[in-house]
Amino acid sequence: MKKNWLPGIASLLMIGLVAVSFTGKRNAHAGVAKIKTIIIDAGHGFKGSMSSPDGAHGPNSQEDVISYEVAKKVVAELKRLMPEVQVLETRPTPFFIGLRERANFANENKGNLFVSIHCNSAAKLREVRREGSRTETYYVKGKGKKKIKKTRTVPVYKTYYHPNPANGTETYVFAAHKQDDKEDILMENGDVFQNEKDDSTAFNTNINDPIVKQQVALWTKQFFASSVKLASIVEEEFTALGRFSRGVKQRQKGIWVLQATAMPSILIELGFITNPDEEAFLLSENGQQDMAGSITRSIKRYKDLVEKPVVQNVAETKRK
Ligand SMILES: [Zn+2]
Repeated sequence: MKKNWLPGIASLLMIGLVAVSFTGKRNAHAGVAKIKTIIIDAGHGFKGSMSSPDGAHGPNSQEDVISYEVAKKVVAELKRLMPEVQVLETRPTPFFIGLRERANFANENKGNLFVSIHCNSAAKLREVRREGSRTETYYVKGKGKKKIKKTRTVPVYKTYYHPNPANGTETYVFAAHKQDDKEDILMENGDVFQNEKDDSTAFNTNINDPIVKQQVALWTKQFFASSVKLASIVEEEFTALGRFSRGVKQRQKGIWVLQATAMPSILIELGFITNPDEEAFLLSENGQQDMAGSITRSIKRYKDLVEKPVVQNVAETKRK
C-alpha cells in the first residue's frame, strides 16, 4: 500500500516546497504559522432514533459513537498536552451535525488544523456453497398428450455471509483536483490569514487582487502538503502502536468538509468496525485511549515541526 502513495506524496511535498520558495515572506501565514486553534471533528452523529443511524455500523458498534468517544479523548489529551492551544469540537454532543455546519464552524473559528475522526466498514463477504444434491422431478413429452415423468439429481447451493476481513487504519487528505473548491473557500475566508500579528508586513486584504489570488492558490498547495505531512505522521504513530496501516490516501468524493475548510485538514479512519478484532479493539476503553494518544502525539509532532524556528529563518533570508 505504501508503495502506491509514496511517489505521489513525494511530488506533492515538492509542490509544497516550490510554493514555500515562491511565497517567501508570506509563508509565515500558511505552512509555518503558529497553530493556535485545532478543530476536532467527530464524524457523523445520532439523528434522534436508533432506526436512522448516521455512519457505518459493525455487529456491536456504531461509527458515530466510537468517533465521538475517541474525539473526546483527543480533545482532553490535547488540552492537557498543549494548554496554550484552543481546541474546539464541531460535534461536542452525541447528536448529528451537518457537514456544512462543521466546515463553517471550523472556518469561522479560524482553525489552523482540522482533524476529522471516523471508522471504516466493509460489506460482508458472500459465499455460495454447494451442499449435497436433491432429486428433481420433470416431465418430457410422450406420445400424443402423454407426459413421461422423469427424475434427475441437481446440486443444492446455500449462501453464507462472512465478516469482511478488511482491516487497518487510513488517513485521507482532500483530492488534488478538488483544490479549486478549497481555493474558493480560502477567498471567502481571506481574513483567516490576518491572525498572524508577528508579521510586520501588512497583508493586502483585497481578495480580488490578482496577486492575492495567486497567493491563495499557493497557500492551497501548501495546505495540501501540510495535510499530507500530518496524515503521514498519524499513520506512522498508528504503526508504532502495532496497528496495520493502509497508508495515506486521497479521496475524490464524499468528504466535502475537507474541501471546504480553509486550513490543513485530514480525515482519520480508526479501523474497520466490520472486522471483529478491530471492532473489539475500538470498542475497548484501552483501544480508544491508545488511538487518541497516537492522534494527539501526531498533532504535537506536526505542530513542533511547522513551528520550528528554522523555517522562520528561511523566510527571513528570503525577505532580504
Ligand atoms: Zn465516516
